Amino acid sequence: MAGVSFVVEARDGRARAGRLTTPHGEVETPVFMPVGTAGAVKAVLHRDLREIGARILLANTYHLMLRPGDARVAALGGLHAFTGWDGPFLTDSGGYQVFSLAALREVGEEGVRFRSHLDGSAHLLSPERSMEVQENLGADIAMAFDECPPGDAPREAVAGATARTTRWARRSRAAHRRADQSLFGIVQGGVHLDLREESARALVELGFPGYAVGGLSVGETRPDRERVLDQVEALLPADRPRYLMGVGTPEDIVDAVARGVDMFDCVLPTRNARNGQLFTSRGRLSIRNARHADDPRPPDPDCPCPTCRTASRAYLRHLHQANEMTAATLMTVHNLFFYLDMMRAMRQSIRLCRFEEWRWETLRRLADAEQIGS
Ligand SMILES: [Zn+2]
Repeated sequence: MAGVSFVVEARDGRARAGRLTTPHGEVETPVFMPVGTAGAVKAVLHRDLREIGARILLANTYHLMLRPGDARVAALGGLHAFTGWDGPFLTDSGGYQVFSLAALREVGEEGVRFRSHLDGSAHLLSPERSMEVQENLGADIAMAFDECPPGDAPREAVAGATARTTRWARRSRAAHRRADQSLFGIVQGGVHLDLREESARALVELGFPGYAVGGLSVGETRPDRERVLDQVEALLPADRPRYLMGVGTPEDIVDAVARGVDMFDCVLPTRNARNGQLFTSRGRLSIRNARHADDPRPPDPDCPCPTCRTASRAYLRHLHQANEMTAATLMTVHNLFFYLDMMRAMRQSIRLCRFEEWRWETLRRLADAEQIGS
């Protein structure tokens, strides 16, 4: 079977509503992909993810190659069979994690030699190895192996990493074999517009079925990020999906959709939930705050999610304080519902040509919202 295909079905300004068809089902865009690092979204069952409208999950190449091992996952039928999630998966390239987590990293033209953060064992992650791992995992979408310089890297370092990312993209494409998996390229270049342009042009020339923007959400200013997105959007082919990696807050996502981005992933809704931070239509809420101890109201009175239908702030605070695992589950379900529901509303507003109106109303509400206990 062929990999993914993509159709833009509606536009409002530069915002697009589209449909991504994958071997494991269709996904409406703009889409948020919950992060399932080790093959599971932390604290949540697939059943609940489906119920709240998650359609595509991200899994991490770096984590899965180290544990349980990509060959083992392949022998057990690939990620879909192994995890029981029968919808689409996207795997990242391993690049971002090897640069942020691995110990004793040594970067060369061949790839990155590193020691596992789990047991110190030695590994090489190269474009060819990243493709082998991702083909073993068998996600619907794989990512080209890229070099991710830190957010504060000097310009020469970013320029070197950007040029290498292009060479690695070429090698990734040459090594990629699976016809039922689509390989996306990743534009790098930090906040330097000329490097972003160079990177985007080179990748488009190589020709990928989709393009990601990497190297953002690493401490850059909002105006810098907006300039980069404006620049890259103008250079990427209009008929291919655009994926902004690792971004971000609800406000960041709304702003990126306005700049023509179709796909997102971020650990914020899941990680914050485990720390007791809830996203609500009335601002952020910290469940640790003592003022919630006697509050019988749901976390977000306007939210129809399974958590808000049954759990009070007082109960969630109690579970969190008592270190009950259910606290993480209930709060992650709410936060993911908040993100997924926002994407639904956004898609609808684009289709109705009311995106700008929806955008400013939503941003104003999020900014004006009474901070309900954070
Ligand atoms: Zn809720």
